[in-house]
Amino acid sequence: MKPERCSFCKGTLYEGKTDFVVKVKKEVVSITNVPAYICNHCGEAFYKPEVSRKIDQIMKDFYKGKFLAHPIAAGEIKFEMATV
Ligand SMILES: [Zn+2]
Repeated sequence: MKPERCSFCKGTLYEGKTDFVVKVKKEVVSITNVPAYICNHCGEAFYKPEVSRKIDQIMKDFYKGKFLAHPIAAGEIKFEMATV
């Protein structure tokens, strides 16, 4: 289901890629290349339900320390690294 309009400013949404940035304790983790609908006016990103689920899964894996076994650049996780 595609949201038609930005729920903040009513701007138009287009399909693109964004970085999902989340703060985990003292670290900032960013998941890059996340597919999203992005508002052309305010830049707010909206995620499809399956993308949100994947982000949840990535964060669970992150908490489990799964990604720590691999050298990643400055807390940067690629969306494609998700195992789901
Ligand atoms: Zn907007």
